[in-house]
Amino acid sequence: MSFKVPRGTQDILPEQTPKWQKVESILRDLSRVYRYKEIRTPMFEQTELFQRGVGDTTDIVQKEMYTFEDRGGRSLTLRPEGTASAVRAYVEHKMFGAPDQPVKLSYIGPMFRYERQQAGRYRQFVQFGVEAIGSADPAIDAEVISLAMDVYHSVGLKDLQLHINSLGDKETRDAHRTALINHFKPSIGEFCSDCQNRLEKNPLRILDCKVDHEHPLMQTAPKLTDYLTEYSGTYFEKVKEYLDVLGIEYVVDPNLVRGLDYYNHTAFEIMSTASGFGAITTLCGGGRYNGLVEDIGGPDVPGIGFALSIERLLLALEAEGIQLDVEDSLDIYVVAIGDEAKKKSVELLSSFRTKGISADMDYIDRKMKAQMKSADRLGAKYVIVIGDSELEEAAVNIKEMQTGNQEKVPFVELVNYLLEHK
Ligand code: ATP
Ligand code: MG
Repeated sequence: MSFKVPRGTQDILPEQTPKWQKVESILRDLSRVYRYKEIRTPMFEQTELFQRGVGDTTDIVQKEMYTFEDRGGRSLTLRPEGTASAVRAYVEHKMFGAPDQPVKLSYIGPMFRYERQQAGRYRQFVQFGVEAIGSADPAIDAEVISLAMDVYHSVGLKDLQLHINSLGDKETRDAHRTALINHFKPSIGEFCSDCQNRLEKNPLRILDCKVDHEHPLMQTAPKLTDYLTEYSGTYFEKVKEYLDVLGIEYVVDPNLVRGLDYYNHTAFEIMSTASGFGAITTLCGGGRYNGLVEDIGGPDVPGIGFALSIERLLLALEAEGIQLDVEDSLDIYVVAIGDEAKKKSVELLSSFRTKGISADMDYIDRKMKAQMKSADRLGAKYVIVIGDSELEEAAVNIKEMQTGNQEKVPFVELVNYLLEHK
């Protein structure tokens, strides 16, 4: 019997974790700089939260959720995304009453979707996202977009394209909905069964279909932006003006409708344009959700957010050939010859580590030569070799591996020496 990691999931091995930690620390820094405070919610929620919050007609709810009954007979679902949970917590903890508005939240953690496995699509993946709840100011739409773009710029990505659209308000959506039904109805037989079901329930979803996206009727479909009300038209113009102020380039993409039901007004996606990125090029998606807080049982409060996955960010880095500058160093390796020397090593290692100096030694009784090799492989900056004469002298030659330079330092001075030279 042999075991394998479940389909669609991956082990992130010690060689890869420094890269992840680097990205995570950039994300935390940016959240701090933009003042989006981290929220941590459970990894599972009542199933109904997602049915309502993400929307019954979405792919996520219809096909992708990991739903199970617990021993108490409750239907629970592993979270497929972060917005519904963040908004649930916002309502539950009455954050709408906080003196500082809007409430700006960020999160980072695993999400679960039963997806067909392919490059850039996992069944467990890590999303970073933000939500700004309590403001309908187009400037905050621009702030959220700017934060998302900053994430990619901070890791060094260049081949990016920002797509934006306006999904309008309810009036816009109703008028557009009627137009869409009239547009697709006569030929709906040529579309996939999902689209046929969507026609009456939620025809906007047809525009987001992955099966029929090449159908000629997609290109000629009525555009949401032709149905914008005065408010939503002005709102969209202002978002674009603020993006201009920020020097953020964008493409207005009338077919951008996003996979989730709750969006209105601003919708955006960031794509990688790197050649060799593969079929799935969307790195990040977000938008405004002015009805969601109320749908989840809170007051009528507007919100906007985005989510991106670290997996796709790393794929984009690979496609652009960018190596993250990761910290993975060892300050000192201690080679010991003999039992007494080993005791001294254990003692020294402890004194180094309490001062934040990374240090390691041999634990499998290797010969000196093998220990030296190990120090080399681990990329140790300094090495010391302790034997009888070093013990007698209470001093040791400390060798800088890169230059080969050596200096004699008393044991009691080693910590200070390393703190100065590290
Ligand atoms: P797609 O159209 O690619 O299925 P989506 O609309 O389902 O994307 P969102 O729910 O908006 O995606 O999620 C936001 C971001 O999360 C995506 O832009 C992508 O970077 C990432 N993402 C979504 N699903 C996966 C997955 N299965 N594996 C890895 N990353 C994912
Ligand atoms: Mg999806």
